Amino acid sequence: MFVDSVKIYVKAGNGGNGAVSFHREKYVAAGGPDGGDGGRGGDIVFVVDPSLSTLVDFRYRKKYIAGNGEDGRSKRCNGKSAENLIIKVPRGTLIKDAKTGRLIADCSSDQPVTVAKGGRGGKGNAWFATPTRQIPRFAKPGYTGEELELNLELKLLADVGLVGFPNVGKSTLISVVSAAKPKIANYHFTTLTPVLGVVRVDEGKSFVMADIPGLIEGASDGVGLGHAFLRHVERCRLIIHVVDVSGSESRDPIADFEAINRELAQFDQDLAERPQIVAANKCDMATQEQILRFRTYVEQQGYACFEISAATTQGTHTLIAAVSDQLDDLPPIREYQPEEINPETLTEENKNRFEISVIDGKYVIDAPWLDYVLGSVNMDDYESLQYFQRVLRNSGIIDKLEEMGIQEGDTVDIFGFEFDFVF
Ligand code: GDP
Ligand code: MG
Repeated sequence: MFVDSVKIYVKAGNGGNGAVSFHREKYVAAGGPDGGDGGRGGDIVFVVDPSLSTLVDFRYRKKYIAGNGEDGRSKRCNGKSAENLIIKVPRGTLIKDAKTGRLIADCSSDQPVTVAKGGRGGKGNAWFATPTRQIPRFAKPGYTGEELELNLELKLLADVGLVGFPNVGKSTLISVVSAAKPKIANYHFTTLTPVLGVVRVDEGKSFVMADIPGLIEGASDGVGLGHAFLRHVERCRLIIHVVDVSGSESRDPIADFEAINRELAQFDQDLAERPQIVAANKCDMATQEQILRFRTYVEQQGYACFEISAATTQGTHTLIAAVSDQLDDLPPIREYQPEEINPETLTEENKNRFEISVIDGKYVIDAPWLDYVLGSVNMDDYESLQYFQRVLRNSGIIDKLEEMGIQEGDTVDIFGFEFDFVF
């Protein structure tokens, strides 16, 4: 079964609690506080596994919960941090926040992506001794790990996508120009999962071709199979539009050609405008008149037309060479840029989720969502900095700091980033 979109739940681990403990030694009366810190909770991390081609595994397992950090112990022993939970996905998986639709990541490269951060461990009481408070009987609890509902959506990565009606010979074509071995049969919808094949053009030169399952008329309206598959063409740099020019199923190749282009345009105007090369297939079965009529029409529309027979490989070499040449001039495969969290769209519940503690005279702010914001802020850039201040203001953090009696020049610490407070 081909599964290319799923909803899952992920939760990063909680941080362990800090310990309250006092140094004990025989004959030593009152030892100082020696409670260790809690360990960090595990992150939720996504990595690309090139051997995967669908999201089918996620149909059976929908909850992913990373381990919690261990609590701190006496003698300043820090709790062990939990391991990150690694989730493997096929290349080209988009990760979106199910609640807001925000694109969190495009898993196209081999770069691991941390989607939910584990909570930091709480500080043990050893940290809280001051000259006036020598017996701190408290420690900090660990912070909660982030939890999220995610929509995973696969959008294949391929340079070239084959589109066309069922049975026109798309699978046959990819099987003769690459090592891919899709099912080929004389009935509709043999291709139920996209097939990727590497087409070697020259020594050291190749591109990736995707055989997208048969489009049928009405696909862009969600009729039949086509719709779900159209998104797999979205990233392709070039489309090869395969048409059965022999009309072997007593259909009109020109009408077919128009129908598919209409479907592409209805799904996404961008797709209709994507560079397209037409492959007039089954030329071995077609008459010269049929071929000429089709070619004339297609060229009038401004497309290059290649006569091929995928079954006998006649003309396929020329087609591939032309495709390769055109790819040389096209931009690389599109990668989607993660979207920043928009402070305006933060839900009330999220906005209110922050904690401020005063440690050694510093105002330490903890808010899991703020970590993302911080990651996207360039502190050397004035506008970026202003954006950051706006976030602090809008989320109520500044108000809270003032309420707590912060003074001009006091230090504020956000995930280790420190700055002086100014009103
Ligand atoms: P798809 O549905 O577009 O993937 O079509 P297939 O590649 O599965 O081919 C459908 C049928 O057409 C199969 O029986 C193929 O053997 C046949 N076929 C494909 N290409 C050619 C061709 O160039 N000439 C002839 N005569 N038959 C072909
Ligand atoms: Mg097929």
